Parts: sequence; C-alpha cells; structure tokens
Amino acid sequence: MALKLYNSLTRRVEIFRPLSRGRAVGLYTCGPTVYNFAHIGNLRTYIFEDVLERVLKWNGYSVKRVMNITDVGHLTGDSDIGGDKVEEEAKREKKSVKEIAGFYTKAFLRDLKELRVRIPRTLAPATRYVPDQIEVIKRLVKKDVAYDTPTAVYFNVRKYGAKRYLKLSRQPLGQKLIGAREAVVADPHKRSPADFVLWFKLVGKFKHHILRWPSPWGVGFPGWHIECSAISRKFLGQPFDIHTGGVDHVGTHHTNEIAQSEGAFGKPLARFWLHGEFLLIDEKRMGKSEGNFFTLTDIKKRGFHPLAFRYLVLQSHYQSKLNFTWKSLEAAQKGLEGLYKEVFKLTLEKRGEGKEVRNLLRPFTEAINKNLDAPRALSFLRRVVENTEHAPEDKLETLKTMDKILGLGFEKPKTAPKASPRIFTLLEKREAYRKSKQFIQSDRLRKQIDSLGYTIEDTAEGPIVWPKKIL
Ligand code: AMP
Ligand code: ZN
Repeated sequence: MALKLYNSLTRRVEIFRPLSRGRAVGLYTCGPTVYNFAHIGNLRTYIFEDVLERVLKWNGYSVKRVMNITDVGHLTGDSDIGGDKVEEEAKREKKSVKEIAGFYTKAFLRDLKELRVRIPRTLAPATRYVPDQIEVIKRLVKKDVAYDTPTAVYFNVRKYGAKRYLKLSRQPLGQKLIGAREAVVADPHKRSPADFVLWFKLVGKFKHHILRWPSPWGVGFPGWHIECSAISRKFLGQPFDIHTGGVDHVGTHHTNEIAQSEGAFGKPLARFWLHGEFLLIDEKRMGKSEGNFFTLTDIKKRGFHPLAFRYLVLQSHYQSKLNFTWKSLEAAQKGLEGLYKEVFKLTLEKRGEGKEVRNLLRPFTEAINKNLDAPRALSFLRRVVENTEHAPEDKLETLKTMDKILGLGFEKPKTAPKASPRIFTLLEKREAYRKSKQFIQSDRLRKQIDSLGYTIEDTAEGPIVWPKKIL
C-alpha cells in the first residue's frame, strides 16, 4: 500500500519514495512570522503538516523536520514594499524586537502543543542564520542572477529565466508584474518589477531598521524568502524530500525559494511540494491583514477545546477549502466528545475473542496513504466504533493505533467522570431504587444528578456518569 501524495510541482498524485533509502525523510515546513498570534487558518496548515509527518512515520520512515521562524525581513503585504512586520509590532507594543519575536514564538508553540501538533526538532529563527543567508546571496551574485543597487540586492528574474522561475506557479509573469508595480515606483534601481529583494540596505524607510548585519553589500538585513533557502539547505541538504506550506505561498514565497536555491546551487530544491488549502470565514480567506480571524484563545474563550478544532480540520481534505463556522465547531466538539465516551466505554467492557485487528486498520491506511484522505480515514474510525464483531480490547487498540495519525488524544482513555463522591453516592442510590423498581425515586435522583452537571448512561456494564462537558 504505497503512500501517494499530490505534488504541486508536477500537478499529479505520485508515489512517494524517499530520495535516500538510508537517511530520514527531509521535511521542510515554512513557519510563522512571529509578530502576532497565529490564527486558526494558519493552524489548519500546521495540522495538515503534522498529519503528513505522522503518515510518513506510519509508513515506516523516520522524518527530519525543519521549520523556520520568521523574525526579520517579512514586510507587510508580503512584497518588497511596506515595513518589517516584527519591527512594526515592536513599535506598536513599545517592546524590543527580540521580546516580540520571543513572545509570539512561545505563544505559537503553546498553540501547537494544545492542538497536539508535534513540534519540529529543528526550529530555526531567521536571525540566527544570517551568515548562511549571506552565503546563498553571494553565490547568486557570483552567478550573475542577482545584482546590487544602492537600495538592495535583487534577484534577477529575467536573467534566471522567466519560464524556469514560474515552474511551480505556472502563473503568467504579467500577472505577477501587476502586483509588483508599486515596488518599481518605490525603487528606481530595480531592473524589472518581478525582481525581488535578497538583501535590504539601510536607506530610506529602513534607515533606522533595528536588526542589522554587516554583509559584502553593506550593513542591512535579509529579504524574507532567502531564510528558507539557507535554512533548508543547512539542515536538510539539497534536494530534500518534501516542502510544504499554505497555497498562498505557491505564487511568491515558494516560487522565490526555488529560484534562489536552484539559481545558487544548480540543483532542485525539493522533490515534493505539498500545499494546504485555506480556512475561510464567510467564504473569504481568513487572514491577519484581512482582519477576519480568530485565534485559538478566541475559540477557547467560547468554551471549545483546541482538539475540537483539530477534529474539525481532519473532517475536510487538506486540498479543499474549509469554511469555518461556530456551528461546525460545535458539531465537531460534540462528535469528539462522543468518540471519547466510546473509547472510555471500551475500557469497561469485558474482554473477549474477536477478529483480527488488521482487518480494521487496512482501509484506514489505504485512505490515509491516498494523498492524506483524513475524512475518509475518519469514516473507518467510526466503523470501528460501531463494529460489533471485534473484541473490545482489539477495538480499543485499533482506535489508539489510528490515533497515532489523527492525534485526537485516545491513548489515555478519558476516564469518564472526575465526579465527586457525592455524585457516585447518588448514582448508587439510584441504582438501588432502579433494581427494586422504585422508578419515581430513581428518576428523581437522575434529575438531581443532571442538575449537578452530569448525565447517566445505562450500559451493559452498569451506569456511567458523564460530565455534561467532557472537553
Ligand atoms: P504566515 O505566518 O502568514 O507566514 O502563515 C503561516 C502559514 O499559514 C503559512 O503556511 C500560510 O500559507 C498559512 N496560512 C495563512 N492563511 C491561511 C488560511 N486562511 N488558511 C490556511 N492556511 C493559511
Ligand atoms: Zn519558506
């Protein structure tokens, strides 16, 4: 059952084979710009990448995952105009650039933990790898695909070759030029609107830029895209196996990364490119600059558990747009609570003989190996829950095994109720009434238990009290 992935570069679903059999699979995922909290749209992308990593491991590969943290050089508007996002936020909050980057990096990692997204072993802040970035730029200048001006060092798209440059996005250069026109007005030294900055100099609006490093072209700071070329090469070599991000990165950021890395070293950057679709709100892209976003804290404030959001995300394919609504989150939370209850009940059921577990895992693996079809994989998980032929302990084991990919937290069965002894006393009394068929009394106790925030479920193994809110 080969693992198949959609490769944005070839626009085909291809069988995944690692570049080197003996080495771990190299996985590079573009990280956040740490000037604000991540919104749940960003988090959708990180969940998709987490599932990808888990699926690779499921298939027996060890994975070397690297993520950059953008703490310099990402300008507002993602192009070469505007100010440095992190520095602008530092000014607004009257804090140092370091404090801002540190604070939002921590907040980001907290979000990932709460969503059970594995934190990449290598987290690389751009500011720590500036010499590596300078090395890549030096090579580009030497190869004459970059040029130095009084304002910046630019990547020369025409010299590199427009067709080659557009191999990922296949977007006509004309379309890109329209977006970049403003930048030409801003810098008369730029030769073509499609060219982009590799190194900013401390002139004009950047005269007082706080973060600055010496370079062969004068003191300055790196452009946004170069950090990914330098960091991925440093930790994963070139080419490496898989590069990922959100679909918005196809046209500019990833296109520029490829041009830089391939222009400097004459080799492909990555073998597979995977892109996660957007989370929408009111059918529009959720975005920081659009101002239409929610953070994980926002959803927690409304009484939702982070894993309810993870479950919601898993219910759609990563290549489909997902329109976020509070109603759908509520349904996801209820659905996940239902799954937790089932998992807990399985721990109570009597052991017994059953069919082989492998039967149940097979279709799940097939689904997840077919370009990460999580919604279909979930349908097989539900089949296990509903299945009556298998022994409870086998079902439980299967669910826990599936959870290695889903990350919904089944490995510790949620012990139903951390209810107080008082609840259990009431429950015992109710059982006694029920057994002696005193239904009016037993019903009164059920209501009393209900008013204390618990519901009773009668099962073959006896009654269980559930807190009304499990998550
Ligand atoms: P940023 O911090 O803006 O660089 O974005 C971090 C990651 O989130 C990138 O991989 C983006 O492509 C992705 N992203 C941004 N907006 C959305 C969205 N609305 N839905 C899904 N992913 C997004
Ligand atoms: Zn990147």
